[in-house]
Amino acid sequence: LLSVRGVRKAFGEHVVLDDLSLDVHAHQVVVLIGASGSGKSTLLRCIDLLEDVDDGVIELEGQDITDPRLDADTVRARIGMVFQAYNLFPHLRVLDNLTLAPRLVHGTGRDQARAEAMAVLDRVGLADRATAFPDELSGGQQQRVAIARALVGRPAVMLLDEVTSALDPELVGEVLQLLAELKQTGLTMVVATHEMGFAREVADEVCFLHEGRVHERGTPAQVLGDPRQERTREFLRRIT
Ligand code: ATP
Ligand code: MG
Repeated sequence: LLSVRGVRKAFGEHVVLDDLSLDVHAHQVVVLIGASGSGKSTLLRCIDLLEDVDDGVIELEGQDITDPRLDADTVRARIGMVFQAYNLFPHLRVLDNLTLAPRLVHGTGRDQARAEAMAVLDRVGLADRATAFPDELSGGQQQRVAIARALVGRPAVMLLDEVTSALDPELVGEVLQLLAELKQTGLTMVVATHEMGFAREVADEVCFLHEGRVHERGTPAQVLGDPRQERTREFLRRIT
């Protein structure tokens, strides 16, 4: 479904992604782990076309999305991206946060946009909060709204970057639980996280990023439980 091949990305002299390759199959949840600065966010931003790659190919559903002739907004409509801080529009009600892009970017009619948004809010368990403003919700609920917003438009793949790291510890569980439920519905996801418990329970594959490459990949049991690479072992020792 998603194929990253030989991607290179440098900021000035600093090479962040170095000939990095990653394949994500439909309905798979791939979790990216690695030290701070290992390039997890940069990789997700390259896939979402928020950064240009210096070299390599990123294919989504068989199409090279790094082709500069493509319209980035059209490509991004097939990708749902969620960031660490929820980035909801504070002056818009929950429902309007969800209908804004469909209406402005995709020209969806008001009633259809609302119906789709309500269906997605129902999916994340927040249909009863549709008319609330973001600051009337808990941090966990706000992040669930941000996930709902990314789900509107039925993206082929969801990219989630540290979606729980800005939350109070007691709110982390509800967001991770939602992601586990979304996996059950067959959603394809690439998740950068420091939550090893989530990686262990939900990932189909764990990729350890180091020095701009996927240094080790495998099932959670293998990578987290019995890592083959010394660097992976060192990383896991440091964070536990
Ligand atoms: P964390 O776990 O802290 O989120 P990460 O794995 O997501 O880390 P990235 O945010 O991808 O790491 O950053 C990788 C490297 O790229 C870092 O050294 C960072 O300083 C650098 N970097 C990222 N964005 C930029 C930018 N816009 N300009 C310059 N350097 C950048
Ligand atoms: Mg990051």
